[in-house]
Amino acid sequence: MFLKESNLYLRLLGFEDRSYSNGPGRRAVVWTQGCTLNCPGCFNPDSHSPDAGFKVSVRSLVERIVSAEGEIDGITISGGEPLQQWTAIEVLVRRIRRETGLSIILFTGYTWQEISRRIAILPSGSNRCSWLDCVDVLISGRFIEQQRVARGLAGSRNKQFHFLTDRHQKKDFENVPEAEVVIGPEGDLLLTGIDPLRWE
Ligand code: SF4
Repeated sequence: MFLKESNLYLRLLGFEDRSYSNGPGRRAVVWTQGCTLNCPGCFNPDSHSPDAGFKVSVRSLVERIVSAEGEIDGITISGGEPLQQWTAIEVLVRRIRRETGLSIILFTGYTWQEISRRIAILPSGSNRCSWLDCVDVLISGRFIEQQRVARGLAGSRNKQFHFLTDRHQKKDFENVPEAEVVIGPEGDLLLTGIDPLRWE
């Protein structure tokens, strides 16, 4: 199917231009809206409804990120569940890779095996997994409350880090702050990071 990119939208929970607690260095963060995985103890239940949040065109999101290059080191895509908006995420990461030198980190609650199964059933010739080649680090797996760690960008111990390029290594994640308060231009506060609401 031919995708008219100008008609592609993502439903987002939020967007942050500059964050230090969502990956190595200074990063823009895209939080997608909508997740049906229902991990018990999820720290972001506001992200579950597929109807909440706001819509943004992939084109305008790319433009905003491209214009920030030079001030940020990369982007982090989190959720909600980004891969429940698979097509738009695919286009987003391909364009960011093509048009910038930014690093790309993608969080997903799906396991590597689930993602691989999804890629395997795509029609041949539909670019199959080429968009995954654009991701530097994929952090995969459900949040398991009993295995909560909230360190080094892993919400729980079972989370798997897949280093898909040689751009980052595990040690790059060890000193990422666990939480951060971002003060917006209107004085609004954003508490972010890995499991920030239970910051200990
Ligand atoms: S995948 Fe993430 S957003 Fe979805 S329920 Fe699990 S922890 Fe929450």
